Amino acid sequence: MQTDVLKTRALDHKSLALYGGQPIRARYLPYGHQEITAEDIEAVVRVLRSDWITTGPAVAAFEEAFAGSVGARYAVTFSSGTAALHAAVFAAGVGPGDEGITAPLTFCATANCLLYQGGTPVFADVEPDTLTLSPAEVARRITPRTKVILPMDYGGHPADLQALLDLADHHGLTVIEDACHALGATVAGRRVGSLSHLTVFSFHPVKHITTGEGGMVTTDRPELARRLRLFRNHGIEYSPQHQEINGPWYYEMIALGQNYRLTDMGCALGLSQLQRLEANVVRRQAIAQRYSEAFAQTPGVVLPSVRSGVRHAWHLYPLRLELERLRADRAEIFRALRAENIGVNVHYIPVHLHPYYRQHFGYRGGAFPIAEHAAARLITLPLFHGMSAQDRDDVIEAVTKVLSHYAAP
Ligand SMILES: *Cc1c(COP(=O)(O)O)cnc(C)c1O
Repeated sequence: MQTDVLKTRALDHKSLALYGGQPIRARYLPYGHQEITAEDIEAVVRVLRSDWITTGPAVAAFEEAFAGSVGARYAVTFSSGTAALHAAVFAAGVGPGDEGITAPLTFCATANCLLYQGGTPVFADVEPDTLTLSPAEVARRITPRTKVILPMDYGGHPADLQALLDLADHHGLTVIEDACHALGATVAGRRVGSLSHLTVFSFHPVKHITTGEGGMVTTDRPELARRLRLFRNHGIEYSPQHQEINGPWYYEMIALGQNYRLTDMGCALGLSQLQRLEANVVRRQAIAQRYSEAFAQTPGVVLPSVRSGVRHAWHLYPLRLELERLRADRAEIFRALRAENIGVNVHYIPVHLHPYYRQHFGYRGGAFPIAEHAAARLITLPLFHGMSAQDRDDVIEAVTKVLSHYAAP
């Protein structure tokens, strides 16, 4: 890096905010942000004034509307996307000794959920274009212990689900799709949420719709839906037959579950937000398209790609820096953009390189070259449905300013 530092010093940095220049904008623009309307607030207040603030009618109403919106038979709410992932792993029957194959380029919760049930995450590298789990790499890692395949729809671009479902069919596996980025995406006109055996969503404030904290699992299989509900509520089952014999107070705990319930306030907020999902996706698409047009000629970047037949949900807009064509490393460009008050981010540090995974599983750098190569070059630009045209233009101006500054001659 010594020579890079020297090369950087040779530039005149004065225009960059990082070195005392005027920032492109005065106020910090985050990479993601919720949008709460007056109707959202009214919906939550109505619940607060009602008799039910948890396990009430808002839960069923949100679940029913959500299932309809993604085209699934069942939708089950959870207290977070992470809880929803955990429940999906339980529903799929993962236990000690079982393996789940997942991508390293994801949020750690995608892999952690297997560990919660005693399973083992097995990583497989990603596709070079979409950065989603590679079916060919998955195929090489299937063993008699494999129970689930756990793809993640990176940035909002669905993984190659048909190829993964074909593999799952062939080997008798369950596909749990982490679609926390991909609410509103479609593949060949079919909606994410209706494609995999189990599909998991998050309603964290940076996602397409929010409940504060919250999550959902969708499925078409009644037995999986039953197990999801069981797990959400301590593993407790109420059966009319048992209650007839023992009394109306009677229930049985038949599995070790959790309290992963989402409140009625959260569900009312989610139901109100769901009305704007389509508009949110359209708005994100329009911003992403403007970014891609603006950066088509910018030196030193690779733009996110979209496969044919895919409707991208645009949770993230990740640029990949071509470091060979830039006179700065990623850290320098990141700092320079932050100094311009553009809230860039990095998605993600590969999961296997976190200290916990290194220590417990002995992973080292170099294990997944495509994911690691991308992870060292990725930079996420601000993108959310509540962004103004001015916010969008500030991002374009700042990225153009910083990247042209560092462009190699
Ligand atoms: C947001 C997210 C999660 C976790 O969701 P929470 O609701 O924050 O628990 C899991 N996986 C991915 C890919 C996510 O983006």
